[in-house]
Amino acid sequence: MWQSGITSHDTQTRPGATGPLVDPFGRTIRYLRVSVTDRCDFRCQYCMAEHMTFLPRQELLTLEELDRLCTAFIRRGVRKLRLTGGEPLVRRDIIGLFQSLGRHLTTGALDELTLTTNGSQLARFADDLARAGVRRVNVSLDTLEAERFRQVTRWGRLAPVLEGIFAARDAGLAVKINTVALRGVNDDETDRLADWCAEHGFDLTFIETMPLGDVDVTRAEQYLSLAEVRAHLARRRTLIDLPLSTGGPARYVRVAETGQTIGFITPMSHNFCESCNRVRVTCTGMLYMCLGQEDRLDLRAPLRASASDDLLDAAITAAIAAKPHGHDFRIGSGIAPAVPRHMSVTGG
Ligand code: SAM
Ligand code: SF4
Repeated sequence: MWQSGITSHDTQTRPGATGPLVDPFGRTIRYLRVSVTDRCDFRCQYCMAEHMTFLPRQELLTLEELDRLCTAFIRRGVRKLRLTGGEPLVRRDIIGLFQSLGRHLTTGALDELTLTTNGSQLARFADDLARAGVRRVNVSLDTLEAERFRQVTRWGRLAPVLEGIFAARDAGLAVKINTVALRGVNDDETDRLADWCAEHGFDLTFIETMPLGDVDVTRAEQYLSLAEVRAHLARRRTLIDLPLSTGGPARYVRVAETGQTIGFITPMSHNFCESCNRVRVTCTGMLYMCLGQEDRLDLRAPLRASASDDLLDAAITAAIAAKPHGHDFRIGSGIAPAVPRHMSVTGG
């Protein structure tokens, strides 16, 4: 298994390329999401087409390169790191990368190391993740009904995912459930999902479906505004708005009766670009400054061009200087996806 200890890249300092990452709109970048693979063991209808062409493996950054790249961002002030995908836990030896990156938690350079997963492999890896320093995990779960789960994910099975969720909880990880709200698919299940999460002590965040990449379903038909979901939940609960903001697109409420937190990610009906503190890197080392825009910069070439991080640092500086102000998603018949790449490429 690949494993790396403290490297010279951890401590490299160079004048001019060591300052915090502040974009032209004054937003300081403190959050990095890294897609470690574009592959997945599911084919969720809203995320992927059933027949996907994945990248040749040699295009992918190696685990050592991913570590070096994350470390370069951490040196520049990134405090929160999320590994995602595709499905991060299907990448071979991925636990070695978590273990290696955990050193930044030990030194205090990083506040949080976390992941977004479909949960299919969590039962196997929950203990390893906890030992590597992961404290919270986001698990995607759109339904609690086995047959519906199979339809939404095409290839997934509900039972191992539930097993994984409980293994994560038993390993001491805080679990947040992510649910994409889909009209005609799970709009009748929002109460049940909220009750189930409250019963087991999980936070819950609903997400609006976004127009990223071509899929086989019609997104306009499945789009469900979270204003509707919120109004529905409020019939049986008292929802108290929380000021809590993570710099992300979610807004949160507390359920007075249970103390549970419910989040609403509304990239379609509202965007919160003005407080965006994050950037994303794909598994090939492409840095996307905004989820909903095509602006990007290749970090793989500078990473591979030199053993020192000078070129990489300069490329990161240039990219942040070009971070767009925001995105504008629209869904409707005849409207093409906002960007051609799937969510599994940029990472959720
Ligand atoms: N495979 C992992 C998972 O499913 O959690 C991580 C990657 S997945 C791309 C990350 C998140 O993006 C998931 O919560 C998924 O539901 C969400 N997602 C994927 N495609 C989406 C889309 N078109 N609109 C909104 N959310 C999407
Ligand atoms: Fe895979 Fe996650 Fe996309 Fe579903 S949402 S197909 S689990 S990457």
